[in-house]
Amino acid sequence: MRGNAAAHEMIAPGNLAGVLDALASAPGEWTPIAGGTELMVAFSAGTLRARKLINLWGIPDLRFINITPESFVIGACTTFLDLRAHAALAAELPLVAKASSWIGSIANQSRATVAGNLANGSPAADSAPALLVYDAEIELISRQGRRRVAYDAFHTGYKTNVMTADELIYAVHLPRKFAGYKQYLRKVGTRRAMAIAKVALAGTAILTDGVINEIRLAAASLAPFPVRLHETERALAGKSITIDTIQCARAALLDEAKPIDDIRSTAEYRKCVGANLLEEFLNELSCGELPR
Ligand SMILES: Cc1cc2nc3c(=O)[nH]c(=O)nc-3n(C[C@H](O)[C@H](O)[C@H](O)COP(=O)(O)OP(=O)(O)OC[C@H]3O[C@@H](n4cnc5c(N)ncnc54)[C@H](O)[C@@H]3O)c2cc1C
Repeated sequence: MRGNAAAHEMIAPGNLAGVLDALASAPGEWTPIAGGTELMVAFSAGTLRARKLINLWGIPDLRFINITPESFVIGACTTFLDLRAHAALAAELPLVAKASSWIGSIANQSRATVAGNLANGSPAADSAPALLVYDAEIELISRQGRRRVAYDAFHTGYKTNVMTADELIYAVHLPRKFAGYKQYLRKVGTRRAMAIAKVALAGTAILTDGVINEIRLAAASLAPFPVRLHETERALAGKSITIDTIQCARAALLDEAKPIDDIRSTAEYRKCVGANLLEEFLNELSCGELPR
């Protein structure tokens, strides 16, 4: 059943201060809408529960990409097309541009925002694994002030997160420290475009003399929300890449992954593909014949 516009109210303060005032005056009453590519799908299906929407689209204070000596700071309403088009970001943190190119279609990417992708909290969110392995921090804002939360600690369960009812995502901070890292990102879906991930895996790693010095792994659709795979990382830290190491890492991932069954895939398939992607990343890291 299609949604009924008369059953919803939308306000558009047009600036950040006005949005924060409205959220502070009635916490939990107003639902932010940015690109609308999640919420309007729910509206069209007649399943949009939010009755009062507050529009973030077109607020310049929320759409920016700033570069500081320490980090890239990406405004909440930055679209995936903005991210794809940013040459410096693509050069330093290429996994962000790669993930951005996967979101729906070009039309979708011109509306879909980074904050909308994260706040929506889908386990399959395409931007999430890259942001996790780049140690992203989420900057939240309200009339009470600002606070930064490690993205790794942002999601608390299926479609739940640490935001309070009067808070907005203001920006995503990405540290500029990954230049020397090996980087990996692969999504497995039904098609190459316009397909939500069945599974995606991202990795960043540093090898010294063939030994894994540092490794970050993150996945979409291997848990009820996007996650870092800390146990699997621990199983690999300090190891050289051998056939045994790969078997050990596969076992660690299969143990750590807790995917959901849904219309796109089964949990069992997701775990198997996740382990295969990890093996692919480790083979890329080793770049050669593997000792036992
Ligand atoms: C045809 C189609 C294809 C798609 N393909 C993909 C895909 O391949 N991969 C993928 O990951 N997603 C995909 N999506 C989903 C969607 O486009 C993304 O999740 C997008 O990033 C959502 O951003 P938005 O600004 O449109 O969110 P909105 O619909 O505006 O909002 C989504 C949620 O985020 C909240 N929100 C928005 N901004 C903020 C903020 N600043 N602070 C706090 N909460 C906020 C809203 O309240 C709402 O709960 C697709 C959607 C469509 C319609």
